[in-house]
Amino acid sequence: MTRPLRILISSGPTREPIDPVRFVSNYSTGYMGSCLAAEALRRGHRVTLVSGPTDLAPPRGARLIRVERAHQMQAALRRQMRRADVLMMAAAVSDFEPARPRAKKLARRGSLRLALKATPDIVGTLPRRRGQLLVGFALETSRGVARARAKLRAKRLDLIVGQHMNGARPFGRQRVNAFLLDAAGGVRRLGRLDKPALARIVLDEISGLWYGGMHAKGEGCATC
Ligand code: C5P
Repeated sequence: MTRPLRILISSGPTREPIDPVRFVSNYSTGYMGSCLAAEALRRGHRVTLVSGPTDLAPPRGARLIRVERAHQMQAALRRQMRRADVLMMAAAVSDFEPARPRAKKLARRGSLRLALKATPDIVGTLPRRRGQLLVGFALETSRGVARARAKLRAKRLDLIVGQHMNGARPFGRQRVNAFLLDAAGGVRRLGRLDKPALARIVLDEISGLWYGGMHAKGEGCATC
């Protein structure tokens, strides 16, 4: 009998304020994170969802922590990481935030220069316990596999779920053109599929890494 895993999932976009009424963000809807959470729950795992702003109701049974900005997502994940076996970093964290968010609403004018700075690399800087599995996501418009591989290495991930974007935006319920890269260098091209199907494959992969890898032998995991 295998024990349920404690799965931490980040989901949705983040919003980085320009002024009290405007923000920098992206088209993420949180649907991928929601599919991962639903599939993990279906398999009997325990799920905590740290979600940026989305209209989606969380799957029944998931513990939900709502955040808005990248810094808040980072703080929430830092707190939750201690108790997690697996982190799935499906959130579309805004890579940039306004360097100087304004306290008052900016008035309309002929043009405006907005200085942006990078948000913290959340997954790359989280405290880790030996044996935890970290899964990242990467949406790429060119050189998808090479860029995803570079992210997997830079962020020290066990697995990265890549998506090629070369047509319609792959947000919400759109099908995606996906591939998986693992830390050993393996590439698995999945072709076009919907997000519930992708979530099943990702959860299968996690089971393989968790139960088939060092955890099955009782190595490396403080909690097994
Ligand atoms: O945005 P990018 O393609 O670099 O994202 C790759 C992975 O890194 C994703 O899993 C994303 O959630 C994560 N990320 C992060 N902190 C950021 C930007 C992205 O953890 N500031």
